[in-house]
Amino acid sequence: QAGDKDVPVERVLEMPDDLAETPRHPRIPLPAALFGARRNSEGLEYGSDAALRPMAEAMRAAPEAPEVRTVDAAGAESAMERAARAFPAWRDTVVGARATALRRAADLLEEERPLLMATLAREAGKTIDDGVAEVREAVDFLRYYADEAETLCQPRLLPGPTGEANQWRANGRGVFVTISPWNFPLAIFLGQTAAALVAGNAVVAKPAPQTPRIAAQAVDILHRAGVPRDALILAPGGVDVGQALTASPHLAGVAFTGSTATAKAINRALGERDGPILPLIAETGGVNAMIVDATALPEQVTRDVVASAFRSAGQRCSACRILFVQEDVADRMIEMIEGAAATLRMGDPIDPAVDVGPIIDAEALERLRAHVADHTPIWQGEAPDGLFMPPTIIELGRDERLTKEVFGPVLHVKRWKAGEVDAVLDEIESTGFGLTFGLHSRIDATIAHVTARAPAGNVYVNRNQIGAIVGSQPFGGRGMSGTGPKAGGPLYLQRFVEEVVISTDT
Ligand code: GLU
Repeated sequence: QAGDKDVPVERVLEMPDDLAETPRHPRIPLPAALFGARRNSEGLEYGSDAALRPMAEAMRAAPEAPEVRTVDAAGAESAMERAARAFPAWRDTVVGARATALRRAADLLEEERPLLMATLAREAGKTIDDGVAEVREAVDFLRYYADEAETLCQPRLLPGPTGEANQWRANGRGVFVTISPWNFPLAIFLGQTAAALVAGNAVVAKPAPQTPRIAAQAVDILHRAGVPRDALILAPGGVDVGQALTASPHLAGVAFTGSTATAKAINRALGERDGPILPLIAETGGVNAMIVDATALPEQVTRDVVASAFRSAGQRCSACRILFVQEDVADRMIEMIEGAAATLRMGDPIDPAVDVGPIIDAEALERLRAHVADHTPIWQGEAPDGLFMPPTIIELGRDERLTKEVFGPVLHVKRWKAGEVDAVLDEIESTGFGLTFGLHSRIDATIAHVTARAPAGNVYVNRNQIGAIVGSQPFGGRGMSGTGPKAGGPLYLQRFVEEVVISTDT
């Protein structure tokens, strides 16, 4: 239609009905008893603390996940060999069958949610809110990539010169290695792994050393759902295992989420290998900023800054690290944020009354404390003993810059004066990162101007800047924040396939 000159422009620009529909990928249906007063950053309603108690009880009753044995470098290579042998049969399995395995796995995740949330809480310190959101995101990834693969990997006959038949196919590439982080040890682990699998690759999956148990449960679910045991192999371990996997002669590509420094190290290792040039899909860190102008609604800003900076103890790569607030409203805004942050309850993540869980390990906590010790916070909340980091606010002077990612509940604040928005955007861009960005303003022209510059891959206006939803808010950054394509977006699977065209004389 777009090529038809008689079609009026308005018609061409109109969204076709099938595209205008709301996303096809439903969220986990929550029991009606849970709907109530509270709403998480993803817009899910949870209910009061009392209504969450049955879920907490189910989590406490769930058995401890079994210990997972790590592999060594030789074990990593033998996993790669086994996966390479399993690859051709999995590649040649029709895409519909691969997609069905993912959908069955999604159903199993929903059925086994209390067990998975218990492991997420025990191993990664995830609160009930965060656990619900994480299982839901994992389910969404599985269903979304199943649907996308059925479109992408469907062989097509392409029109061609008379007398020739042209068949186009998108095949799996071989053995993909997925390397995933501890902060979304189910959703990101499964998202990367399921994308590679459904596109027709065999996968050797290396979870973060801190979170092997939830990864083992996820792999078990995919096996039970129909993925052959050797087409998906878990290889838990540390840096040595990652290095052995990326050095393997059987490697066809890497999907990595973690630090920018590690992504670059993998990229160098891939570049030095003999043989083919291999794809690396990397989602890395950010020094994520939010700009607040004098027209923003203070209550809304407070709610969104607290969620963005302190929820999940700031252990999200999307979290707000620096708030640029217009001078005229800065004192009041900071006071309100402090007041709201002071009400956050920290403690046992399975306690329904708890808002914020622990920091992942002692080393990470030490790094945060060292950063705070180098500055003088203008405010710090209270934290119980243990691996807890209190929410902290550090104000930066006009000449001070935040250039590195501080991975925890530490919010930096900087004031700006009317007319300086472009200078603030320059400062944000000068970090080289560009993952998430938030703006609070009630002036349409400001919103249009700032979003046109879009200093990050995911831009959020008048809301918080965390909790991207699969299929609706494809997630991923630019520059030092990642290579793309965005996870949960329409281009993601393309990097996992290789194209073949077969032209036959008829
Ligand atoms: N996708 C998550 C979000 O939007 C962040 C992922 C991460 O922290 O790696 O909050």
